[in-house]
Amino acid sequence: MAPGDVKKTNFISQIIEEDLKSGRNGGRVATRFPPEPNGYLHIGHAKAICLDFGMAAEYGGECHLRFDDTNPVKEEQEYIDSIQEDVRWLGFDWGEHLYYASNYFDQLYEWAVKLIREGKAYVDDLTADEIREHRGTLTRPGTESPYRNRSVEENLDLFERMRKGEFPDGAKTLRARIDMESPNLNFRDPVMYRILKATHHRTGDKWCIYPMYDWAHGQSDSIERITHSICTLEFEDHRPLYSWFIEQLGIWPSRQFEFARLNITYTILSKRKLLQLVKENYVDGWDDPRMPTISGLRRRGYTPESIRDFCDRIGVSKADSTVDVGLLEHCVREDLNKRALRRMAVLRPLRVVIENYPEGQTEQLDAVNNPEDPSAGSRKVPFSRVLYIEREDFMEEPPKKFFRLAPGREVRLRYAYFITCTSVVKNAGGEIVELRCTYDPATRGGNSPDGRKVKATIHWVNTETAVNAEVRLYDHLFTREDPNKVDSEDLDWKTNINPNSLEALKDCKLEPALAEASPGEGIQFERMGYFCIDSKDSKPGAPVFNRTVTLKDTWAKIAKQG
Ligand code: ATP
Ligand code: MG
Repeated sequence: MAPGDVKKTNFISQIIEEDLKSGRNGGRVATRFPPEPNGYLHIGHAKAICLDFGMAAEYGGECHLRFDDTNPVKEEQEYIDSIQEDVRWLGFDWGEHLYYASNYFDQLYEWAVKLIREGKAYVDDLTADEIREHRGTLTRPGTESPYRNRSVEENLDLFERMRKGEFPDGAKTLRARIDMESPNLNFRDPVMYRILKATHHRTGDKWCIYPMYDWAHGQSDSIERITHSICTLEFEDHRPLYSWFIEQLGIWPSRQFEFARLNITYTILSKRKLLQLVKENYVDGWDDPRMPTISGLRRRGYTPESIRDFCDRIGVSKADSTVDVGLLEHCVREDLNKRALRRMAVLRPLRVVIENYPEGQTEQLDAVNNPEDPSAGSRKVPFSRVLYIEREDFMEEPPKKFFRLAPGREVRLRYAYFITCTSVVKNAGGEIVELRCTYDPATRGGNSPDGRKVKATIHWVNTETAVNAEVRLYDHLFTREDPNKVDSEDLDWKTNINPNSLEALKDCKLEPALAEASPGEGIQFERMGYFCIDSKDSKPGAPVFNRTVTLKDTWAKIAKQG
């Protein structure tokens, strides 16, 4: 689907349509995606991106990319670059609307001074811990700070001196003066500014006081004239505070709407925890193919189309829920099924010698590139006397339901011939190292000349022309459906990390056409799944492939039963 196609009607689109009908905002629609540049984007952000950009596209509006860069300590240019790359890769474009909350630091400071002048903000000397204690709980009202009733003059002076750097980090804060008994804890004199002598990635050392997210966010939306500020449910309780600030300042009223965040089984979608996985080397960086990050999914072989399709299918609602990771896999499988070229690759090779095939002879056999897409054409695959087949396609003593190769049994080699296993060669340790087989020349192309049937078709690769490769197979990064759940208090979520989430097979054999695969190109290894070249570790002559997803579709089964 195209990037602008993200509409299935949802409660947000209904609100926008009502607003358009009533003439609110003069028919203008402006949304924004406001990431904090403190990590890489993940699939949860993709849901927000599809909604923010999708709604703007649907209603002929604009969507801003705004970096919420109010915390200089955790933010880095690397994250800013990756976020832009990922949003673009997903298929969205912010045009000229690239903004930073830090662009508004001067304006926010002026507005803070205005609130101080009106007795609506004060400088507090309580420490962060003391502020937390004074705050109270849902059942206990807060208590007022002893510094709450400072004069306007004193507050203006202290705030000015905070900005000049006269006080150490954490010594003072600026707080809104609202209501310490409010049932909404966000109204209990929220902190607006803190002292932090840190260099900011954009404003350098100009500031040593930084606005809190709650003080910056609503005003940023207002400055940018965002008509529909869409965010996740945890900000629902903050909305009245954003409105309060906007009313006190008398500035343009942006409106906020909340939706439920995405949760996926076997997956962690918290930037803090993902950062821990990276820092503590549980994974190979933010773009490890097991990570739920956009860059990880890309490296794994996911396409932008499949991610947009996923975001479309899960829909948008106000009720929290958890999506089966099988649906995400289903979406990429469906997309790759349409476009992926079929190739043969043997992941765990077992040598096969066709004893009655002429030595030194090689034939070029026709193989279909994609049965779903006739325009993809066909290719030639070399065949000769010595081949590799998949180790698991042979059993010396096959149980009842095993229909593949076994001693005395005939199977079809895909696009080639029928072969029959005549004997087994073992090494000193008793391990099978080679099969001896015969072929029937009358079955060329894999066709039966006399209506004779075989119960299995297996894939193979010609030894002499095989490309050696490493192939990485992945399992879920966590062993539990809910990775945050632990059985006792002394355990943490990391005990749910799957120790077997990566299996690297180093001795895989690929058909020659795979030497030309390029990163970003989805390929089906017949019977083994969808794969792609690893964009980081693959080298010319030493390719590394990632399995994007298996062919087996458990989701389709579930959907059918449902
Ligand atoms: P985390 O809490 O994991 O650090 P965050 O929500 O703080 O993530 P931001 O960079 O602030 O990360 O998020 C940018 C936007 O993406 C916000 O509007 C946020 O609501 C949205 N978002 C973040 N996580 C999800 C999710 N799991 N599902 C949907 N939207 C999300
Ligand atoms: Mg956030």
